[in-house]
Amino acid sequence: SRFVVAVDGPSGSGKSSTSRGVAERRGYAYLDTGAMYRAAAWLVLQSDLDSSEQELVSKLIEQADLGIGTDPAGPRFTVNGTDVTEAIREPVISASVSAVATNLAVRELLIARQREIIAAADPGIVVEGRDITTVVAPDAQVRVLLVADPSARVARRKNELGGVVGDDDVRDQVIRRDRDDSTVAQFHDAAPGVTVVDSTELTLDEVVDRICELIDQ
Ligand code: C5P
Repeated sequence: SRFVVAVDGPSGSGKSSTSRGVAERRGYAYLDTGAMYRAAAWLVLQSDLDSSEQELVSKLIEQADLGIGTDPAGPRFTVNGTDVTEAIREPVISASVSAVATNLAVRELLIARQREIIAAADPGIVVEGRDITTVVAPDAQVRVLLVADPSARVARRKNELGGVVGDDDVRDQVIRRDRDDSTVAQFHDAAPGVTVVDSTELTLDEVVDRICELIDQ
């Protein structure tokens, strides 16, 4: 039967690399739900709408054709036929995504789509985000909350950004997004049945090993 691995965690916890690593090792699909919220934020930025116009924003997203890649080797994302894979990683998206992600009608739409993708996965899928272990797939066979000390998260985020930005800027961004996201999901306390994995002192391979052990249990 289909095997679902749910991975939640804040930005910089190593969630994406870890989830992709697990999916590649197991031959599973990979779903980056954060990329879906980023694609939605990209569309809102392209439009004349302000994210405070909640109903119009959710209608815009409902009518959009979102292409959601699930290849762990390099998932691609499209919005109405435009490839946005690189564009959704821009700082302007990171700064505006929380405003779209707190729109409850948008969440409902994207969660429904996430559940469809999970249901179609064969033989398994690794799904990462903020509310996967609790809301999207609480019945997943393996549920992990990935955490890391703020200093480790700032260092990773800086690395992801290519090291061209200052520590203080990255630290501010990480702290700001934690705060913006805190109304959406609480990642500090794991829900019952969720295994907390602290990646602060672990290499990527060690975290992937740890989750694969949970799959094998
Ligand atoms: O994981 P990533 O940092 O790319 O996620 C981008 C944003 O999408 C998060 O800051 C959060 O606002 C939102 N998000 C969410 N629920 C998820 C995944 C992401 O609200 N399951």
